[in-house]
Amino acid sequence: MMSDPKPGLLERLEQGGAVCAEGYLFECERRGYVQAGAFVPEVVLDHPEVVRSLHREFVHAGSDIVEAFTYYGHREKLRLIGKEDILEPLNRNALAIAREVAEESGTLLAGNLCNTNLWADPEARESVRAMFTEQVGWAVEEGAELLIGETFSYLEEALLCVEIMRDSGLPTVVTLVFHQEDATRDGYGVAESMRRLEQAGADVVGVNCARGPATTLPLLRTIRDAVSCEVAALPVPYRTTAEQPTMQSLHDPRSPDVRPFPTALDPFTCTRYEMADFARQAYALGVRYLGVCCGAGPHHIRAVAEAMGRWTPASAYSPDMSKHAYLGTDPTLKAGNQQYAGRL
Ligand SMILES: [Zn+2]
Repeated sequence: MMSDPKPGLLERLEQGGAVCAEGYLFECERRGYVQAGAFVPEVVLDHPEVVRSLHREFVHAGSDIVEAFTYYGHREKLRLIGKEDILEPLNRNALAIAREVAEESGTLLAGNLCNTNLWADPEARESVRAMFTEQVGWAVEEGAELLIGETFSYLEEALLCVEIMRDSGLPTVVTLVFHQEDATRDGYGVAESMRRLEQAGADVVGVNCARGPATTLPLLRTIRDAVSCEVAALPVPYRTTAEQPTMQSLHDPRSPDVRPFPTALDPFTCTRYEMADFARQAYALGVRYLGVCCGAGPHHIRAVAEAMGRWTPASAYSPDMSKHAYLGTDPTLKAGNQQYAGRL
């Protein structure tokens, strides 16, 4: 038997960090393969080539983790659209597509779980447990090398998810989403909720989604100080502010009648340089698991990876404006064009 030379998640984090591209839902919606609203990833069955290609683009841009696109591919969502019969094939297909890309690229296959939207109802707790259990089971059977539970608004739902993910024996990442308040919907503060997740045995704890870099960053010092395990941060690439701290709360003065979330957020999109700046600051705080959530494009992922000091295959095409006809500095460029630069 040959030993597997591929480093696992925890090794990669110890060796300097890991990048995880998220944001499949928004990117597939933008491309016309997922419907905004229910946001169920049927695309993994209907157009697997789209998902495979997006995984490859994110890996090319520096993602170390190929996250199976099972976000909102759980039983409650499938019930909502009347298609519970495709629940298992959807999960297995998503995992198989991601496994193919992880194997060919030497990256890690992650199974993915998320909020069920049922936690507020105490009667539904047993079905939440069953939903997590079946998804973890499929992920393990399809060869997941780590498990990610994400966008939990309720600490207690996240704790249940960690418990069930931990039963698999795989490394576990769990991220909460903090909405406009710095507290979970069941009333736990940032530091306390992170400590509880660490105590429950999660290997990596942190935050993802909803908040952009400006409103995620202030949470990270608190989290880094609260726990001794690895910390994750995957903001959305939108220009949120103290007054409008989440992408859901953004208001566009130029289109006051249109709610930007989720399909008109374009004017708020962060540049790659803003995402790089975020990654640099987070990394300096000791956050080693970094990525970008809803709205992420491959250029954002590359910027995060490069800010962590990494070279990615896409870095071969990182901007070099020195040979630009008007804005460049190459001595063979035509002076007339360079002199015209200010009039472009
Ligand atoms: Zn997101």
